[in-house]
Amino acid sequence: MSRFMEAVNGVQIPQLGFGVYKIKQDKNGSFEKIIQEAIHAGYRHFDTARIYGNEEALGHAIGNSGIDRKDFFLTSKVWTTDLGYEQTIRAFEKSCKKLNTTYLDMYLIHFAGPHYIESWRALEDLYAEGKIRVIGVANFEIEHFEHVKKQAKVMPMINQIETHPAFQQQKLREYMARHHILHEAWGPLGQGNKSLFENDTLQTIARSHQKTVGQVVLRWHLNRDTIIIPKSSNPRRIKENMDLFDFDLSEEEMRQIAKLDTGKRNSVDPKGYQVNP
Ligand code: NAD
Repeated sequence: MSRFMEAVNGVQIPQLGFGVYKIKQDKNGSFEKIIQEAIHAGYRHFDTARIYGNEEALGHAIGNSGIDRKDFFLTSKVWTTDLGYEQTIRAFEKSCKKLNTTYLDMYLIHFAGPHYIESWRALEDLYAEGKIRVIGVANFEIEHFEHVKKQAKVMPMINQIETHPAFQQQKLREYMARHHILHEAWGPLGQGNKSLFENDTLQTIARSHQKTVGQVVLRWHLNRDTIIIPKSSNPRRIKENMDLFDFDLSEEEMRQIAKLDTGKRNSVDPKGYQVNP
């Protein structure tokens, strides 16, 4: 079963969660059906964001699950157009309303856009009021943390960043470990990129464990103490992505995967975002 990672304040975060970015929403309730599949498979940690436009649907699916709210771990994020102190407080309240909850387990600044420092103050205050259990950021680089460090009462507890075998984030990981900032991977499966799934090393390792390449990649993340939120709309893969606890990778296999780092991301470089807003 899923393990937990402990945030610096002692909150336990399920290490394996479910990302809901770009899951189809239609009149037939496709989105809710997929969330039901995921809940049925055992996922309790769900990652959404205001910008994904599916907080309300996720709130419905969770509300209709028959499972207590407190048994779920819900994350949302404040989008760039809502940065600033008051704006962030309002965005948080809207996200809670949509998700049909009075608190969030985790709330993140989605990108370090203009006024992210004021947003961080809002997160610190919401945290002090007990409305958010874990406060953090996404797509932050070392220079953003160094800037926050100079003025924050509470440092970000987690950073959600693009990470997969082709983009391993080694330097940022080391910095985060030194500052007790947990590492959460978005795009843990390289967003389904073919070159990852067709990689010879990963295919050989997968065959030797009678597992899929996806499972090997997700296991690699778990062994690096990274929190993962793979996304899938396919019921078979939803289960497959959870079935990671009956095998392990050897140190040699971890070393082989370490060599697959290309240093190239799939997405936009967050370094472009302001350091001193
Ligand atoms: P991902 O790495 O989870 O890849 C998802 C894709 O991989 C699927 O659409 C499917 O095509 C494929 N896939 C899934 N399971 C598979 C399997 N077992 N075998 C083969 N292919 C499989 O990418 P993602 O959805 O972009 O990232 C996961 C989550 O991270 C998102 O849903 C979202 O919640 C979050 N996210 C955050 C940010 C951010 O800026 N903070 C950015 C992107 C995504």
